[in-house]
Amino acid sequence: MIVTIDGPAGSGKSTAARGLAARLQFEFLDTGAMYRAVAWRCLRESIDLHDVNAVATCAAAMTLRLELHHVFVDGHDVTSEIRTPKAAQGSSIVASNPGVRRELAARQREFAEGRNIVTEGRDQGTAVFPHAECKFYVTAAPEERAFRRQRELREKHEHDVPLDEILQQIRERDDRDKTRVIDPLRAAEDAIRIDTSGLTPEAVLDQLEHIVRERMQ
Ligand code: C5P
Repeated sequence: MIVTIDGPAGSGKSTAARGLAARLQFEFLDTGAMYRAVAWRCLRESIDLHDVNAVATCAAAMTLRLELHHVFVDGHDVTSEIRTPKAAQGSSIVASNPGVRRELAARQREFAEGRNIVTEGRDQGTAVFPHAECKFYVTAAPEERAFRRQRELREKHEHDVPLDEILQQIRERDDRDKTRVIDPLRAAEDAIRIDTSGLTPEAVLDQLEHIVRERMQ
């Protein structure tokens, strides 16, 4: 069974997807980490993120290993380095590259082959797994998403980024994700929409789990 969870940055989809996979004992796939990994590799090799051919070549040559709590690129543990604001902005630039999307979509389908998975991203229900058995589109008010990101950054990097700066970055990234030509961020027609504003992570998780278990029967 394939469960897709798409939505904008900071919507709570990662926490929900991870939690759901654990409750269902499904595999978990964080596809955002894959785009972040491509950006990280390009930045490391001083490749211009707008150089379409060089970036696509870099993505195709990358060895990527995703574990539940760790991401490895060419054997380096990049788990925290791909979470910086620079990597986040870079990931949404390389995400509009058709060659990168083709490469990563193929790796995502390969990962899912013969498995029960919960996969999260922007295009999982629309482009990568259009026949998924259960699709969610998770969102929340932009201010709340910015607030959650700020808390996350504080926990991970131990530094404070002003809320309006984060809100600005989130809006930029969402705009780029929603307006790109290939596989833009949007809800699949058959996706169930969940607005997580004002909900605790547990409440979101309970809703998702309830719906998936109903579909499983
Ligand atoms: O979810 P996360 O914030 O880690 O994603 C980083 C970036 O990767 C997004 O802003 C988006 O541009 C891109 N992405 C994508 N398609 C996916 C997952 C992520 O374009 N399936």
